Amino acid sequence: MIQLFMPLNFLGFVYREIRRALTDLESMLALLKRTPKVVNLTGAPDLKLDKGQIEFRNVTFGYQPQRHILRGLNLTVPSGQKLAVVGASGAGKSTLARLLYRFYDVDNGGIFIDGQNIAEVTQESVRQQVAIVPQDTVLFNTSIRDNIAYGRPGACDKDIEQAIDLAHLRGFIDSLPEGDKTIVGERGLKVSGGEKQRIAIARVILKRSPILVFDEATSALDSGAEAAIVNALAEVARGHTTVVIAHRLSTVVDADRIVVLADGAVVERGTHTELLSQAGHYANLWAMQQANADHT
Ligand code: ATP
Repeated sequence: MIQLFMPLNFLGFVYREIRRALTDLESMLALLKRTPKVVNLTGAPDLKLDKGQIEFRNVTFGYQPQRHILRGLNLTVPSGQKLAVVGASGAGKSTLARLLYRFYDVDNGGIFIDGQNIAEVTQESVRQQVAIVPQDTVLFNTSIRDNIAYGRPGACDKDIEQAIDLAHLRGFIDSLPEGDKTIVGERGLKVSGGEKQRIAIARVILKRSPILVFDEATSALDSGAEAAIVNALAEVARGHTTVVIAHRLSTVVDADRIVVLADGAVVERGTHTELLSQAGHYANLWAMQQANADHT
């Protein structure tokens, strides 16, 4: 009997292994299908950063060819300035951030950094000069410290400590019994949306890219968490060209310039005060968010 059992047991093992491998393959193929295709042109040079000026020239883009999300979008972010992008849900704000990081190439027009079309230089060089804090940061199943250090592998302790301070993470880390050695991620400590974004900000501080893109988390944060992020961002943005995709207008009142997106194009631009006095889209959004804030 045992002679029969052993080969059957082995066959069962082989069957399970093959099934697992096929499932892994399926998920990998699904991932590849969803991964955007950005291909470097043959012999494309690296992006050469000068002052860090960004320009979107007549940009048209859609995830599917028959549905344009951005239509002839024009905007400029002068070097060292902070631009906030606001607009109704689905207006294309996060799409704009993804295009600047070259997750996708535009269908028409171009995005230029210091006069160079980012579709004509290597994708890697664009990603070296542009650092992004995404809406939903992925944390690895490792310590908070390693998660931060990932911003610049090999960073020294002093720089990591400084990033922790600038990202306003010190209080949070000190409150944990194991401090920055605490394991986070799927199988570790679950951290809040606000803490996650501050870990991402610390990574970006370490990365030291001259251009920063901050895609604010859509889910509501309490005012304490929001203030911590706004302060962290103000520190990191100093002297950098910064694009902030804002879902809450209260986080962008200090921006050098604000653009309002609607139907894939810029419909208003100005400072907070200028836009309020125009009594248009921005003023409406502001009034709506103030009313919501009063009800919470
Ligand atoms: P929100 O304020 O709700 O985050 P948003 O202005 O950032 O919205 P985007 O996330 O840029 O909007 O999305 C713009 C449009 O593009 C939406 O209609 C959305 O459904 C669509 N879209 C976003 N990502 C994809 C994708 N990967 N594939 C197909 N369509 C997408």
